[in-house]
Amino acid sequence: MPLYESDLDKKRNGQHKLVSRDFKKDNTVIELNGIMIGGESLVIMAGPCSVEDERQIVETARMVKEHGAHVLRGGAFKPRTSPYDFQGLGEKGLQLLALARQKTGLPVVTEVMDTTDVPMVTEYADILQVGSRNMQNFPLLKAVGKINKPVLLKRGMAATLEEFLMSAEYILAEGNNQVILCERGIRTFADHSRNTLDLNVVPMVKKISHLPIIVDPSHGTGRRELVAPMSLAALAAGAAGLIIEVHSRPDQSVTDPFQTLGIEQFSQLMFQINQFSEWRKTYADAPHAN
Ligand code: PEP
Ligand code: MN
Repeated sequence: MPLYESDLDKKRNGQHKLVSRDFKKDNTVIELNGIMIGGESLVIMAGPCSVEDERQIVETARMVKEHGAHVLRGGAFKPRTSPYDFQGLGEKGLQLLALARQKTGLPVVTEVMDTTDVPMVTEYADILQVGSRNMQNFPLLKAVGKINKPVLLKRGMAATLEEFLMSAEYILAEGNNQVILCERGIRTFADHSRNTLDLNVVPMVKKISHLPIIVDPSHGTGRRELVAPMSLAALAAGAAGLIIEVHSRPDQSVTDPFQTLGIEQFSQLMFQINQFSEWRKTYADAPHAN
């Protein structure tokens, strides 16, 4: 066994208590309105980067639902590099997400950036997202660890696997074991894409941890034309699902237009995902799977 692996195992045994497969052998499956995250079927979360207005979110929600998405995404609190850029609609955005859920039946995942907003976001959201920039915001991790709803924890853009899993450990340590991990790309020297989607982490997480891991090919690439191939690559690597930015009018998207799919592209991708999913059922029976 290579040194790297034994080091990792040593750390895992010493430190990753609750997230570790040593602690819990079976995969964690998170149930949400009949959707099983980390179960047999792939879970597709889709929607705009940001909630912009009623028409945009309801229209997009209807479209992604029609093409088979299981969860609606949309940011109401946006972590932006510049303080002068659109910061999200805040509570109004949460209300619009709730409206879109009411009209489509899709559960909603949305980001919470601040500990003081946790109660409010918990009231509206079905899954609370902790974004990359907050992966090591320990008070926030502790706060979402105290709620009784699933948490989508995105990997920090410069976080090692150890750090990523330790952040999940913070949430579990507070009593919330409904954690979904999300690989969304890391910073490298590569300048042909916004981030480098580190798909190695998917099988590594599955080996070390019982928690489900999904992949965000939108932030992971930053380029619309890379979203479909990297979505399929993520699923081939063993991801439990995907979170994809989709907008009814992608070029008018206020945030992240270059990586946002239009409905036509999303529909084509869903067709490919469904084909993959059929193939996966056969593959899953093979002795080398997982
Ligand atoms: C997002 O998903 O809306 C987002 C801001 O992603 P990340 O935290 O991965 O940058
Ligand atoms: Mn975005």
